[in-house]
Amino acid sequence: MNKGLKKNVTKSVLLTVAIIASIVAFATIATTFMLYVYGQLNSVTDEYVEEITDRKTDYVNTLLENDMKLVQNLSSSLSDYENLDEKVIDSTLERITQINGYLNFILVKPDGEVISYRNEDINVASRVYFKTALQGKVYISKPIFSNPDNSMANVVSAPIYNDSKIVGVVAGLRSVNDYSNEINLAVRGVENNANGYIVNTDGDIIISGTKLLPDAVIPNEEESFFDSALISAAGENERQRIVDDFTKKDSAGSVKMTVDGKQYIVYYTDLATDPDLHYVVVFDESTVFSDLFRYMESNLIMYLVFLGVLIIMALAYFIIMHTNLRSLRNANELMSKVAYEDSVTGFSTYNKFEEDIKELLQHDYRRYCLVSFDIDKFKAINDMFGHEEGNHMLRQVAETVQRNLLDWETFARVNSDNFVILLSYKDDADINDRIRKIISAISYEFSNYVPVLSFGVYRIVDKNVSLRRMTDCADIARRTVKYQEESSVAYFTDAMLESMREEKAIENEMQNALDTHEFSLYLQPKFSLSGPPVLTGAEALVRWIRKGSVVSPGKFIPLFEKNRFIIKLDYYILDQVCRCLKKWESEGIPSILISVNMSRVHLRDPGFVDKLEEICKTHGVAPSMIEIEITESAAYDSMDVLIDVVHDLKNRGFHISIDDFGSGYSSLNMLKDLPVDVLKIDRVFLTETNNKRANDIIGHVIKMARTLGMETICEGIETDEQAQLLRSLGCDMAQGFFFAKPMPYTDFERIIERSHNINH
Ligand code: C2E
Ligand code: MG
Ligand code: MG
Repeated sequence: MNKGLKKNVTKSVLLTVAIIASIVAFATIATTFMLYVYGQLNSVTDEYVEEITDRKTDYVNTLLENDMKLVQNLSSSLSDYENLDEKVIDSTLERITQINGYLNFILVKPDGEVISYRNEDINVASRVYFKTALQGKVYISKPIFSNPDNSMANVVSAPIYNDSKIVGVVAGLRSVNDYSNEINLAVRGVENNANGYIVNTDGDIIISGTKLLPDAVIPNEEESFFDSALISAAGENERQRIVDDFTKKDSAGSVKMTVDGKQYIVYYTDLATDPDLHYVVVFDESTVFSDLFRYMESNLIMYLVFLGVLIIMALAYFIIMHTNLRSLRNANELMSKVAYEDSVTGFSTYNKFEEDIKELLQHDYRRYCLVSFDIDKFKAINDMFGHEEGNHMLRQVAETVQRNLLDWETFARVNSDNFVILLSYKDDADINDRIRKIISAISYEFSNYVPVLSFGVYRIVDKNVSLRRMTDCADIARRTVKYQEESSVAYFTDAMLESMREEKAIENEMQNALDTHEFSLYLQPKFSLSGPPVLTGAEALVRWIRKGSVVSPGKFIPLFEKNRFIIKLDYYILDQVCRCLKKWESEGIPSILISVNMSRVHLRDPGFVDKLEEICKTHGVAPSMIEIEITESAAYDSMDVLIDVVHDLKNRGFHISIDDFGSGYSSLNMLKDLPVDVLKIDRVFLTETNNKRANDIIGHVIKMARTLGMETICEGIETDEQAQLLRSLGCDMAQGFFFAKPMPYTDFERIIERSHNINH
């Protein structure tokens, strides 16, 4: 994973963690808050319910107290009833009954006999309300059926004292409906959802409020309140707590239960009027808390909606991030592929190689060298067989190299046909062996055309040197063995670096040198061999008068051919030659054929022939005064182009010679298509004048050239012996130090004049 992607992934992971943490934090805080609010509201509501119940309790207390006081007051006023007239008693009872809205008031004698203004002849000796009052207690009874009234009634009874002695009982019958309507809560919100009761210590329901709650939670008045379905639903422990609380003084409490899936709360509290009585309210919790629930519900919905939106947003974010990361990863993979996988060979690119060798060099104790190699004339292979075939060749070369590497070695294609290998080695012989093995493995792969490879080796001494620099050094070495006949290896030396620096310096200076006429025209005479040597022409040879000393072309021409500066230089020399010819013409010096060297680099320039003609025209020199020397090696680049150019030059009137003939692989056969005037036989043939076979070849070449209508000239003649030999072999002309060295054109003028004088 590259650094950019890593950074993105880390960022996304951190963001994701932050989002998840935020959601969790939000959910926790919101839930805690909701629970807190719920708790608060719950307790507030509990307090509220308690308060309204307490208030109602006070009311109920007063209600009962009033009734009890009423009965007690009546009993006081009737304390002397035994001495009162019955009519008086009856009218008192009737008045009290009517004023207070009771069903009836009665007086009961100690034996249970009832004195009633309605003249009822009954005995209530067995009635609890009678018996309890007779024991001195003011009492409110359970609902009983009042026959005369044909309705249920609560009886409030009190003893009649006379001189601190109980002499009877007064009892008031009050319709249960009177109480029922008063017992329930009349507070807004709960008025229809709560039932009030007055229950005594034994669990008897004394008064029951109007029934508003469902039947399932309404206690049967016949049974004990404690045994009702409602209280049973609270569970045995809770039930027992109520029973115990009811026996205690000043007790109050609440209990919750679920009946038919609904929540109920029962509040109970002592009635101060009578410690045996308790006021009980049963609430339907859902309705009592309906506001709270509604509030909580809306809060919960808001909370859930918000949480949902948050989760959806987070999900959307994750999806987008995931897609982004995926496309980023894909793009990254693609980029890595482009950056690290060579599109032609499928092996490493130079970038990948750089990363790999960093690792290798840092962690490995072995000695390594960097090998740069390329395929000679690969461009020609491409042109000849097509790009597909060229690429196929590169793939085969790469695969072969790969097969010949050890696990800890690697390689890459730098560009075109240039490869680099990181090779481990013990000594120089080892490097040589390994490279030779690679060369023969590659040769083995190619049956039709065996590529010639040039290898440059840079021994890595300091592993911290940059790869670029190592490659440059290996390349420098490689270039020194380029275009050899067979695959070769060169080892980088500091001297190579020195010459490279020198080349750089030359490159920096060359344009200025041309502008300031540091390039000077030298001429080397050519002589005929048929009789006594007669001057037939001269070859223009460039010299660089650099910092006062004369530099030979061998030092700069190969470099100028590489950087194509030779094009400018050749035109400059032709220009100088034309000036010279014109000068001689103006000075009356007899003109002579001058040959000018033209590099093979020109052949790739379509305007080349035009340019030569133009230069001649500029100076008014006929092309027939000029001979163009083209080296035999120009045929390597493209024979067809060479043929075309030679034809073109010939048509414009130039003389043509093939220079250095025999130095390369050119065959006599190639000459038949080239309309050249002169064949310049290379001086390699002269190295062994005693070698019969070599002499036979020269003789053969000379004969052949003559057959094709060409003249021959041999260059590099240094001895009389060589001159004699060539004369004997029928060579037309000669050029060499034996006759004259290249000289400044001004010196050459003397030679012309001298030869002219001799001839005349
Ligand atoms: P070349 O065209 O084959 O020129 C002949 C070379 O042989 C010249 O070397 C010349 O000085 C040398 N030579 C002549 N006689 C003898 C001899 O008896 N013994 C020995 N050992 N050498 C002899 P020079 O001037 O150093 O030029 C070298 C090459 O540089 C030339 O080979 C030619 O290919 C190239 N060159 C020179 N001037 C120019 C130029 O203006 N343009 C181009 N394109 N190439 C040039
Ligand atoms: Mg020449
Ligand atoms: Mg030559």
